[in-house]
Amino acid sequence: MRAFGYARAATADDAIDAGATGARFIAGGTNLLDLMKVDVERPDRLVDIGRLPFTKVEDQADGGVRIGALVPNSDLAAHPRIRRAYPLLSRALLAGASGQLRNKATTGGNLLQRTRCYYFYDRALPCNKRDPGSGCGAIGGFNRIHAILGASDQCIATHPSDMAVAMLALDARIEVRGSDGTRTIPLAELHRLPGDTPHIDTNLAPGDLIEAVTLPPPPGGTQVYRKVRDRASYAFALVSIAAALTVEQGVIARAALAFGGLAHRPWRDPAVEQALVGERPSTAAFNRAADLLLAEARGQGHNDFKIDLARRTLVAVLREAAGAPQ
Ligand code: SF4
Repeated sequence: MRAFGYARAATADDAIDAGATGARFIAGGTNLLDLMKVDVERPDRLVDIGRLPFTKVEDQADGGVRIGALVPNSDLAAHPRIRRAYPLLSRALLAGASGQLRNKATTGGNLLQRTRCYYFYDRALPCNKRDPGSGCGAIGGFNRIHAILGASDQCIATHPSDMAVAMLALDARIEVRGSDGTRTIPLAELHRLPGDTPHIDTNLAPGDLIEAVTLPPPPGGTQVYRKVRDRASYAFALVSIAAALTVEQGVIARAALAFGGLAHRPWRDPAVEQALVGERPSTAAFNRAADLLLAEARGQGHNDFKIDLARRTLVAVLREAAGAPQ
């Protein structure tokens, strides 16, 4: 590991000033320190934001909830309000990482974790995300965990977060404070597709500090989070789905669906949700939704199985959410 400077931020303004001049934020460090150890991340300076006062889960006047960016994943998963009103978020958090990691990992850091593409972590192999212009080892290489939607000829990596998938289905927004003040943006606008700039994961500017995530009032209906992976714990999703489905008088009145393991960012497709609204729950209707979701899906060889896996997982999740027998 290379030498680096370290300072602890006493205030958010201190952190933002340091971030704007090139320092990297560190809180739980569960991803950043790993990347520094393998020389993928090479910050000259770290600014520790771990003692800033972003540690509360607070009810909002509109019936929603505001989650401080430094709330640990384990605390958020166990929070009574989250378990009661947003159970898919609690389940997604508990599906991620291990108990020890969830104790350290924070809400903001979880959103900003980087891909687990094997080539990204190995400096001996080409990777446009790590070293722009060096090529992509996964394209034409071993790509079992890689993207089937939204990829580019520069990068086919997937986003690794479970929590972000759940929050996307719940219409989360993030509060970001930067040099120009505080703004709120939909979570859907945080993460980017790889395009020609796969080294840029998000639309945040240097020095932008996530202070909180806000969730609107719970969506009602039935919430489901399902994660399909190679082993039962401590594994990233091959396919994950967060679903909130409301059925009224035998007809789907509202559907919110977000997907993990399929793309460079947590994936949501309004056309898929709209196709379900007004339908009676049925395998045929669920398969039509899967057709729409996967119309542009493209495998890379080893990950071709994900196309069928995503279809079967979506149909199973929708059956569960609609109360149909599995
Ligand atoms: Fe790098 Fe993306 Fe290719 Fe993986 S898929 S090797 S992260 S460019």
